Amino acid sequence: MTNVSSFSLKSRSLKFKWTFGAAAAIFLTFFLFSYAIYQGIGQMLLNEEEQKVNSLLAETTANQVLKSGNLDNADLLKEVFDKSPSISRKIQDQVIAIYNAKGEQLDKYFLNSSQKTANNDFSSYFKPYTNDRVTNKPTISGDKMLISQGPITSLNDNSTVIGYVQIINPLTSYNKIMGKLLLTMFLLGAVALFISGMLGYLLAQNFLRPLTKLAKGMSDVRNNGFQQRIETTTKSRDEITELTVIFNDMMTRIETSFEQQKQFVEDASHELRTPVQIMEGHLKLLDRWGKNDPEVLDESLQASLTELERMKKLVQEMLDLSRAEQVSQTKELQITSINDTVEQVRRNFEVMYTDFTFKLDEKADNLHALIQHNHLEQLLIIVMDNAVKYSDGAKEVDMAVARSGEKVEVTIRDYGVGISADEIEKVFNRFYRVDKARSREKGGNGLGLAIAKQLVEGYLGTISATSAEGKGTEITITLPLIEKVAGEKKEEKKNGN
Ligand code: ADP
Repeated sequence: MTNVSSFSLKSRSLKFKWTFGAAAAIFLTFFLFSYAIYQGIGQMLLNEEEQKVNSLLAETTANQVLKSGNLDNADLLKEVFDKSPSISRKIQDQVIAIYNAKGEQLDKYFLNSSQKTANNDFSSYFKPYTNDRVTNKPTISGDKMLISQGPITSLNDNSTVIGYVQIINPLTSYNKIMGKLLLTMFLLGAVALFISGMLGYLLAQNFLRPLTKLAKGMSDVRNNGFQQRIETTTKSRDEITELTVIFNDMMTRIETSFEQQKQFVEDASHELRTPVQIMEGHLKLLDRWGKNDPEVLDESLQASLTELERMKKLVQEMLDLSRAEQVSQTKELQITSINDTVEQVRRNFEVMYTDFTFKLDEKADNLHALIQHNHLEQLLIIVMDNAVKYSDGAKEVDMAVARSGEKVEVTIRDYGVGISADEIEKVFNRFYRVDKARSREKGGNGLGLAIAKQLVEGYLGTISATSAEGKGTEITITLPLIEKVAGEKKEEKKNGN
């Protein structure tokens, strides 16, 4: 319970992070974009206004009446300005301030509509005794203004400064447009923030939904047992679906392995129970009647010893199976000659079963595989044992060694009872016996082929059976071929020659 709640807490923090991250990214992009537009438009408008100021300044400083020195005659100037078409056309909302050579303001000239602008004192932005153009952009009573000054030179020599003209542009349309733009951007910014927040949240929720589902599924599996699986949506095949499929697959494997283990323990105890029961029966018999009857005594002792032997074999086989399971993890690898080992096993069987003929057909020589010699031997003995055990009077077993592509192939063929088609797949299962009573009679526990399969798969090989009932069985073992050794051998031979 604690784990479940701690998960949801973490997922919530992830959702918050994703929401916040996505929203911040979207908003930042919007903000930078807006800022660039705001600055761009502002600069464009300001350039336009600056041109207006420059044009009026040029027009005023070049005025003949001003240049001739009549700077303090207000009435005359007013008349001149009113009449000059170029000045009255360009002045619009701008204010012209006239200064004498000492920098004292003499007069201001403007249209009536600009009275409010003209009421301000601009003398503080005036810089006396300079022939350079001076431009300022101060903010006066809340509005940004553009102020530019230039010298008036005497008409006589065109170089003596007799006064100054200061043009004040109140940037009316600039201030209006920029104000509106700022307001619009703030409003849009607020909307963008809201939308990006929502979008971020939806995105985060969308991304996290399958993850939350997966975690919940995993938690259900943990609580309700690993037989349960997490549902996968077939619609989208994304990373999370993949993760779910992997998880389900893993759970199936765990379940299979668990079931196998359970089955093994059940089967093993069942297999062990039979000899124990038989021995118990015989011992009871002995206890009751056998002490003074040498015949019963002998029979019961023999039977008990047989069962004891069977138990010993069963325990050994179980141990072999457990070891065979670990083959793939052992790093002790050995290069073994297939031809030699098969021949050696064949010889041993020939000695053990003199009434049998064991043929070996070597279709290729110098075949080697990466397998421990004793494991290969064990594998061959299991299969050969079966061939003899289930020979049903046919006293021949054929062995063959061949190369098939990158593999070594060993086949062992008998002409015995055979296995029916519906049982052939099961003979490799643990404790599986086709005919339980008969197999037991022959001392079989049903573990031999299971050990063989485990061993061969541990060395990345395969084992398969083909059979026809009443005609015989063929078991094929394949193992990966080791090429290098074959090459070395050839070289060895060459050197020898
Ligand atoms: P067992 O120790 O009982 O022989 P195995 O695992 O070696 O166990 O074999 C499983 C079963 O497969 C055997 O009980 C037998 O019925 C069948 N079997 C195996 N090899 C052969 C064969 N060569 N011919 C016929 N039946 C076979």
